[in-house]
Amino acid sequence: MRIVLMGPPGSGKGTQAQRLVSEFGIPQISTGDILRQHRKAGTELGKRADAIMAKGLLVDDATMLDIIRDRVAQPDAKNGFILDGFPRTQTQAEGLTKLMDDLDTPLDAVVLFDVSADELVRRISGRRTCSLCNKVFNIHTAPPSSPATDCVPESTEHQLFQRKDDEEATVAERLRVYAQQTQPVLSYYSDAGLLRTVRAEGALEEITQRLRDALSQKPRSAAPARKRAPKRRPAARKAVARKKSRSRVAVRRKPKSAARSVKRKVAAKSAKTRAAARKVVRKVTRAAKRLVRRVRRKSKRR
Ligand code: ADP
Repeated sequence: MRIVLMGPPGSGKGTQAQRLVSEFGIPQISTGDILRQHRKAGTELGKRADAIMAKGLLVDDATMLDIIRDRVAQPDAKNGFILDGFPRTQTQAEGLTKLMDDLDTPLDAVVLFDVSADELVRRISGRRTCSLCNKVFNIHTAPPSSPATDCVPESTEHQLFQRKDDEEATVAERLRVYAQQTQPVLSYYSDAGLLRTVRAEGALEEITQRLRDALSQKPRSAAPARKRAPKRRPAARKAVARKKSRSRVAVRRKPKSAARSVKRKVAAKSAKTRAAARKVVRKVTRAAKRLVRRVRRKSKRR
């Protein structure tokens, strides 16, 4: 199965992707993790990405597409993968489609994680990572156990740190970038009939079950192409065309009503998915604005 998980920062894509890895036997490909590994190893890319990530901005599309091209060619991704954090722009989405077409392995589903803006901010601001065992916790919703029986054997407590890009000012920028750059990507996948939306609040297992249900849905056919406006014809040619079209009417077969109703249903469903995606983006935009205001107020006070 080739799956893309989409959603704002903090929507839980990474956590859910990890839960699906063992279930489906396919790897999670997190572009954020790949970039962080480069940063840790001090590679050229890592150094370049460091400054960009710290500001909450995006690494350029060509670099990201190169990373994905290499990663999906690895043997462990032969039977599929779960993309987490990619694509994030329209160019990346189109590049991925081309890559999948070239490999003759189309995507099976794109799942959008829907989370309320307040929950999003709570999750990101509470996220902490253990520097010893790399486990991710949330001081509000999923605090680590104490003493830590699940850390490295030498330690009795987790050593928690906050990701630099989880600090408030950067989070606001990440949410803004998400709202601005991701909206066209959601419509792109909705038009392709691949997008499904999952409510990503509640217990972890509940969300995983919703995700399983969404993934087992049959793929929808792509939304019917929009009708083009008829071309204007000069008056003299119009009369000839009218004559021709009258003679064509007699032989033109009416589209079958069943086919028409399927088309109508697909169009309605696609409009519904698009509306859901727009709602998520609106929520994220509002959260980003609120955060920006909060950060500004704080920096004025200082
Ligand atoms: P989150 O989903 O929580 O925002 P990630 O761990 O996915 O965070 O990504 C962290 C950062 O890495 C992003 O803010 C961005 O700077 C960079 N990054 C990750 N994936 C991409 C991508 N597909 N395109 C561009 N930049 C990316």
